[in-house]
Formats: sequence, C-alpha cells, structure tokens
Amino acid sequence: MNNDIDDLRQQFPQLKRTIRGQPLLYLDNAATTLKPLDMIQALNSYYSNDVANIHRGAHYLGDQGTSFYESSRETVRSFINAESRDEIVFTRGTTEGLNLLANTFSSFPWNSEDEILISAMEHHSNIVPWQLLAQKRNLKLKAIPVTDRGELDLDGLRKKLNHKVRVLSLTQVSNALGTINPVEEIIQICKQWNIVTVIDAAQSIALGLVDVQKMDCDFLVFSGHKIFAPNGVGVLYGKKKLFSQLPPFQGGGSMIRNVTIEESSYLDLPHRFEAGTPPIAEVIGLGCALEFLKKQNLVKIHENEKKLTQIVLDFIRSQKNFRLVGQTNQRAPIVSFLISGTHPNDVGHLLDQQGIAVRTGHHCCQPLMNRFGITGTVRVSFSIYNTEHEAHSFLKALDKVQRLLL
Ligand SMILES: *Cc1c(COP(=O)(O)O)cnc(C)c1O
Repeated sequence: MNNDIDDLRQQFPQLKRTIRGQPLLYLDNAATTLKPLDMIQALNSYYSNDVANIHRGAHYLGDQGTSFYESSRETVRSFINAESRDEIVFTRGTTEGLNLLANTFSSFPWNSEDEILISAMEHHSNIVPWQLLAQKRNLKLKAIPVTDRGELDLDGLRKKLNHKVRVLSLTQVSNALGTINPVEEIIQICKQWNIVTVIDAAQSIALGLVDVQKMDCDFLVFSGHKIFAPNGVGVLYGKKKLFSQLPPFQGGGSMIRNVTIEESSYLDLPHRFEAGTPPIAEVIGLGCALEFLKKQNLVKIHENEKKLTQIVLDFIRSQKNFRLVGQTNQRAPIVSFLISGTHPNDVGHLLDQQGIAVRTGHHCCQPLMNRFGITGTVRVSFSIYNTEHEAHSFLKALDKVQRLLL
C-alpha cells in the first residue's frame, strides 16, 4: 500500500516543495487539489506545440485542437456515465454552471407562488445565483434544514415539498462538514413532484460518487480544479430533454448557426452554451486529469482516504477541548473542528508555521456556520496522495498548537 502511494506521490511535483523549511503537508484538498505531471505536461504540450483555435476547421492544427477538445468531452461523458456527449458543456467551473442554470431558468413561466429549494449546507455559489433568480422573478427561495449532526433533515425536506417547488439545487457532499447527502433518494422523491433537480458535485466528483444515469438528476455541475485539472474549466451536465429547451446563456461566436443584425439562430447542444473561444488547454488538461485518475486503484485510494479521516476523527473525539462540527457517519475525507476558546484562524496560522496547509473560516457556507452558531471552523481535507504518516504528523502538530493556545 505504502509503495503504491509513494509511486502516486511521485506524480505530484508540488509534494516535493518545502514550506518554511519543512516538507509541505497539504491538507486543503477540498479547496483545490494538486496537479499531476501528466496533466501539467498536457498543458505544456498544447502551449509548446499545438496552439490553434478550434471549431473553425480551416487548417491542420485547428482540426487537431478540435479533436483533442472533443475527445475530452468524451472522457468526461464516460467518467460521469452520461448518455451522450451532447449533454456535456464545458464551463469555467461549478460557479459558472450554477449561474448558467439560474439565468436560463428565468425564462420559465413561473410566478410569485413558485419556489426554489436549496439546503442550509450549500456553498455560496449554490445560494447566491438562486437568490438573484428569485429576486428577478419574484420567486420564493427555501432551504432544507440541517440537523445537529450536520445531515440533511429529510423530514424537513418532505414538509417543504409541494406542487409549487420547481427546482431543487443540492450539494452531494458538504465542502464544510464532509457530509455525503443521500442524493439518489432525494432525487427520487423530487421526481414525484416534477421538480427539476440540480446537483453540485464540486466535492463528490473526486470521490467516485458521480454516475448521472444512476443518480437520475436533471443537471449536475463540477469544477476541474478540485479533481486534479487546471483552474478555469468545469462541467455542466444536463439531461438532453430539458437541457435542449434552455435558451442561450451567453451570446457570441461558436454558439450560432446564422446571424443577421436583427436576429440569430443558435447551434444545438453542447455548442449553444459554449460561446466564445473556450479554455482549450484547460479542457484538454481536464480530460488528461480524468484519464490519470481512471488509471489509479481507486478502491484502495478511497479506503486510504477513509482511514486517514478516521485517524483524525478518533483524535478529535478523544480531546476534551475539541469540538467536532458535523457528526455524520456518511463522510467524505473532510473534517471540520474547533478548539474551544481559540479562533480557527489562530489554529490555521500556527499549523501554517509548521508547513501544514489547512483551511479556516466559513468555507463559503455562512448560512451553515450560522446554523451552528459559529463563524468558522478549521477544516482538514485529504486527497489521493495523503499518507498515514502525514495524518499522524498533522495530529502531532495539532497537539502542539493546542498546548500553545490553551
Ligand atoms: C468549491 C465548491 C464550489 C465552488 O466551486 P468553484 O470552483 O469556486 O466554482 C461549489 N460548491 C461546492 C460544494 C464546492 O466545494
């Protein structure tokens, strides 16, 4: 096992970095993951040899770029098990995907009785776009409550369902608490009410939890940078039937069939939603990152992440001065906690002094923090390259921090 992880770590050059003279201990994977060499080389190769704009078909490099770009679309399709490549639209990330949906949904004939449902554990990017839509169209925005354990309150959800709910937009995994939500079950319930379902897979995508046909969601979004791919690229999946009914989001080149000064006609999916020159190298990098991931022993990797998470949970539960925020057993490799009487930023700062990267603050989930009566937490999040040795080093450092602060 250890040998496998050592090999895997060789693929991530940034792990060789030192921070303040100590080896980097990177435990902020829920914010963004480090990048594998294959992917970095794919970017290098595009910019060194293969630069050309795509979808214009006038010359060799243009055609080659188009074929690289479209083959990433196929890689994504297969990775999330979509039925068709047409259901895969490249975006700038999760945030843009959600804004695209909230904007285009505003063309639906809804009225002030109609409701949008989210949850109290959403990332701001799955709250604010819906607020903007609700304000623009005078709709109601409601949230499924969260229990003391940091799980969705499914009875609370059932009470909120009625014929006025049009959309449910829900995260599959909480980036702040690590809770894995039972999205399949919830999507089935929503179907009985004809509710359009949108899944935020920003965290779940790297955990092997996404199969859009099995989940049977209408839409799903994620970002490349949280799954070993570059910044500036993400994916919006949509079931063809509904997706193809949405009006354009942004207008421009590459999304039109014919343009006159008076009016335009648009291309079909997926190009209708990819106006302008796309992030070509980044899309190629995303394809490469997913191919890289598929080659790994994912069963073993996810077992390892679970083990590291358990090591941290056991420690926190054994300490009288620690408060675990979020008690779920359905957990991603994410742990949020507080040391009583201390500020999370101070804990983060003292860990940083020891070369350890964790995240502190509200994790873009202020409503969730309010639900727990806190302003933030310390969050540690593991990825495929983290080791048991690192988990123990982290706990040793944390123990030192506790003794410094208390
Ligand atoms: C990171 C994250 C987002 C936002 O992703 P961006 O890449 O910043 O667009 C949304 N939801 C969840 C659950 C996240 O973890």
